[in-house]
Amino acid sequence: MIIVLKPEATKKEIQHIEDKIRELGLKPMLSAGKERTIIGVIGEEDKARIQPFEAFPGVESVMPIQKPYKFVSREFKKENSLIKLGPNVEIGGERIIVMAGPCTVESRERLLHIAEIVKKSGARVLRGGAFKPRTSPYSFQGLKDKGMKFLYEAKKKAGLPIVTEIMDPRDLPLFIKYADVIQIGARNMQNFELLKEVGKTKKPVLLKRGMASTIKDFLLSAEYVFSEGNHNVILCERGIRTFEDSTRFTLDISAVPVIKKLSHLPVVIDPSHCSGIWDYVAPLSKAAVAVGADGLLIEVHDDPEKALCDGPQALKPHKFDVLMNELRQIAKAVGRSI
Ligand code: PEP
Ligand code: MN
Repeated sequence: MIIVLKPEATKKEIQHIEDKIRELGLKPMLSAGKERTIIGVIGEEDKARIQPFEAFPGVESVMPIQKPYKFVSREFKKENSLIKLGPNVEIGGERIIVMAGPCTVESRERLLHIAEIVKKSGARVLRGGAFKPRTSPYSFQGLKDKGMKFLYEAKKKAGLPIVTEIMDPRDLPLFIKYADVIQIGARNMQNFELLKEVGKTKKPVLLKRGMASTIKDFLLSAEYVFSEGNHNVILCERGIRTFEDSTRFTLDISAVPVIKKLSHLPVVIDPSHCSGIWDYVAPLSKAAVAVGADGLLIEVHDDPEKALCDGPQALKPHKFDVLMNELRQIAKAVGRSI
């Protein structure tokens, strides 16, 4: 439920409404938008209806939110959300944010090298996993704590914020210390306890779509993070499982306009994990920019043959550089920049 406030509502009136919401065992969420200030009521809708909030001083109107996901919906917030990822990096606005780097942190030297490469080509965020969700327990699992420290060093040296995946809520202190953006991978999109824990922080969250999840499921997972108080959520379409087996997953390109219609959150496309093949990364990235994505998550490796993880889908540095130049032209054509 949304309580729309009158423009002249006083602090005292707002406080009174918030107190009443809490008394009902619900949570108020104040959102000061450009056009209007509203209070979202988090919790069971039926409980909120007990109280006739329309009669409270300072209230203009009370509206139910029709969608099952509430605070990530466009019904709750009309304007696009802008999320700050670093001192000079913001996603959801005019600039399309390219996040690039290796699948996994392999060594300090290699990470620092790749960070410089992607930065030179125009990436604004460095990606790299220190904790890797591998299908086989015998595959490389990541450098873990050591990898986090290398990422932090690369961030300082290259001046790029870092995005890296969390799998276990017990690692949260490490992520709060070192990461700029906490990634929740496709396999954990419905790990509700993890979503809630990350939701208690203020760190931006890059939430990847589960490979067998609908957009509704996806937005409900984002709602978990929101409902705990963290509104810095970025959604990432990374391919879904279909009958098609010529690519690793099938990129659901329509997810971009569909989510944009349903939600105010920024949407990123991952052309690397959806295809699994480097040769398709450039055309899919171009499609993503053309269709209105706010960002891209691209795997880049200086020697894919030797990569410890996802070598076949990694772009070599010169291919990434060429792609970035092509993307700039497409971005311009759709009124954006990179
Ligand atoms: C990744 O980005 O490193 C990753 C494992 O992706 P996904 O969760 O989409 O498979
Ligand atoms: Mn990968």
